[in-house]
Amino acid sequence: MNHISFAALADKAAELNQTGGKWHFHMIGPACIFSRRKNEYEIIIEIESTGKEFACRFSEKPISETRQMAELCYGPGFLNDEENSDDTITADQKADQNEAFGKIMDRARACCAAGTAWHNHHLFPECIFNPQRGKHSIVFEDETSGEALYAYYEHDPVKDLAELEALFFAK
Ligand SMILES: [Zn+2]
Ligand SMILES: [Zn+2]
Repeated sequence: MNHISFAALADKAAELNQTGGKWHFHMIGPACIFSRRKNEYEIIIEIESTGKEFACRFSEKPISETRQMAELCYGPGFLNDEENSDDTITADQKADQNEAFGKIMDRARACCAAGTAWHNHHLFPECIFNPQRGKHSIVFEDETSGEALYAYYEHDPVKDLAELEALFFAK
């Protein structure tokens, strides 16, 4: 694991986008089941072709930095409703819609209504944190109970992810 500045991390992501390198990222906080740093937040990028990881540490929750990484990873229109409407998703993605995600959305809305802390992750098929390698996963964590809910997908669940993250960034 290499620790670098956030500027260097964002540059690396932009460079990978330009060269077509496959990568993804995580924002991991102290309350997270994947946390390796109990008092700090981390943004980690995993480069899928090389298996290399780079990380940047923060003492406060890096909200704007996470949003910036999400836009680098999924495209700048990622959190726009119009660009993730039902018309733009593929038949494969539609076929993938699952009940587990419905439960995640219900819990996320309940946490928002109660004002309790939660966060989510998108685990790519090659991700070191993914319990079912080969599938995509959306993980929801209720920080009050410490409970984690998983939804698994055969395809990239971009629409479900955008729906959940729109709720997260609206908090
Ligand atoms: Zn987490
Ligand atoms: Zn990962």
